[in-house]
This record gives sequence, structure tokens and C-alpha cells, in this order.
Amino acid sequence: MGFDRLCGQSHQNGGVTVPHDDQWDVLVIGAGLNGMTLANYLLRAGLRVLVLERRLESGGGLATEEPIVTGYWANTGHYVFDTLDLFPFHDELALREVNVRFAHPEVQSALLLADGRTLVIYRELTRTRESIAAFSRRDADTWLRLHDGSADSDLARLTPMSAREAVDEVFESEAVKSLVLHHLLIPRGIAFDDPGTGRFVPFAVARAGEARLVQEGSHELAQGLWTAILKAGGDV
Ligand SMILES: Cc1cc2nc3c(=O)[nH]c(=O)nc-3n(C[C@H](O)[C@H](O)[C@H](O)COP(=O)(O)OP(=O)(O)OC[C@H]3O[C@@H](n4cnc5c(N)ncnc54)[C@H](O)[C@@H]3O)c2cc1C
Repeated sequence: MGFDRLCGQSHQNGGVTVPHDDQWDVLVIGAGLNGMTLANYLLRAGLRVLVLERRLESGGGLATEEPIVTGYWANTGHYVFDTLDLFPFHDELALREVNVRFAHPEVQSALLLADGRTLVIYRELTRTRESIAAFSRRDADTWLRLHDGSADSDLARLTPMSAREAVDEVFESEAVKSLVLHHLLIPRGIAFDDPGTGRFVPFAVARAGEARLVQEGSHELAQGLWTAILKAGGDV
């Protein structure tokens, strides 16, 4: 995208003066995870990149704050990274060099029931299977099958359904159904009554043990991506 075409002349935009020289090849709008990751790849491809952010803070959803009690920091937006093994942008962009470290917790998520029982998704599939088997042996076997992706017929059958219909179809335990639906809503924002969302059920099961967290909080990743942009000659 030609910078000159976007900003032929210097002008004021919300109090920010946009430069008019040919310093940049690409303007990326928004310093969230996606904008800053994209900017880093473009810089590595040799382009000159400026990221424009409307807030006085980078990161967008990569927010780590003290929302309730001073001293207790929480990730209030994006916190789960469960596709790093498929898309290792942290390795490719050498984010360890800018102090970004991911943890892969032993306990990934848990459903605490009023009767004292707990359904736990672990990093290790065998432990997850045991936890599910305490609720339903049949569901534990189904979980394994969906996790392995060994039955393509599952995907074809579940795809036209809503996710709620799909969990009713494949699982019998209400606890297991609830945990899977929770994994669709957070972090993916998938509304589980929409037709067609059934295809995400096998995906959520397959990804269930893969969640990584940024060790120092999600905002540390924003800081790291920003630092990497500056080191590569770009700007935010
Ligand atoms: C509560 C919540 C939790 C979530 N948890 C997860 C999770 O755990 N895992 C996951 O994978 N996904 C999660 N998501 C989805 C998540 O939002 C995205 O994965 C991620 O934040 C998207 O990054 P992004 O850069 O596209 O957008 P954002 O993080 O929203 O960043 C967009 C940036 O652009 C800026 N901006 C917008 N418009 C302009 C403009 N006109 N000019 C300049 N700047 C602008 C914004 O200020 C912001 O900084 C969650 C979403 C929500 C709402």
C-alpha cells in the first residue's frame, strides 16, 4: 500500500499529525495482537512499517490489569493461546529475545460443580480422559475419538448443527457438554446456538490441552511485539 496515496499531505487526525514524507511503505491500523504481529512479519520482509494506535496504550485485547484488588493482576481480554504449535509466531519472531515467555499449565481449565465434583482438562490427554470418565465412560471414549480426529464422519455430521445440538449429539454428561461449550464461548467468542457452529466442537476438543499463557501476563506480549517492531526499524 503506497503511503503517498494514503497521506498525500500532512494533516491533523484527532490531534495527531500524520507525516507526509515517504518514510513508510505500510500503515497498519491498530496495535493489537494481529496488527503488531503483522507489522513484525512485514518488517522482516523488508518493508518499512508504521503502526497507528488510537489509544495511549498498545495491545488491544492483550490487557493485564488490576481490575478488582490492588496487587492482583488479571488478564482482562485475550489470555489463551492455543494454536502456538500450529502457528509459532513467537518462535519465528524470536520473542524470547524481548522477554516474552509462554507457560503451558498442567491444569488447563476446570468446571467446579456445586456438589463438590470437578471436571478438569489437563495438558496430558490421559489425565483429561480419566477426569471425564469419572462423569461418563462413554464421553471419555468420545473425547478421545474427537481429539484424534479419527472420525471424519463426526465433522460431516456435526457441521450443520449448532454447537449446543452437537454436544447433545455426541456427549451424555451435562458437565462435559458445559465445559466444551465454555471453550467455544471463551476464548473464541462462538455463540453456541448459531447453526453451523457444531463444527467447532471437535476443534475445541482437539485444542483443549494446548492452551498457553504469557508467563508475565498477556500485556507482556504487547510490550514484546512493540519492542520487536522498534528493534526492526518500525514504529508505533
Ligand atoms: C473478553 C475477550 C477475551 C478474549 N480472549 C481471547 C483468548 O483468550 N484467546 C484468543 O485467541 N482470543 C481471545 N479473544 C479474541 C481477541 O479479542 C482476539 O484474539 C485479539 O484480541 C484480536 O487482536 P486484534 O489485534 O485483531 O484486535 P484488538 O486486540 O481488539 O486490537 C485492535 C486495536 O486496534 C485499535 N484500533 C481500533 N480502531 C482503530 C482506529 N480506527 N485507529 C487506530 N487504532 C484503532 C484498538 O484501540 C486496539 O488497540 C477475546 C476477546 C474478548 C472480547
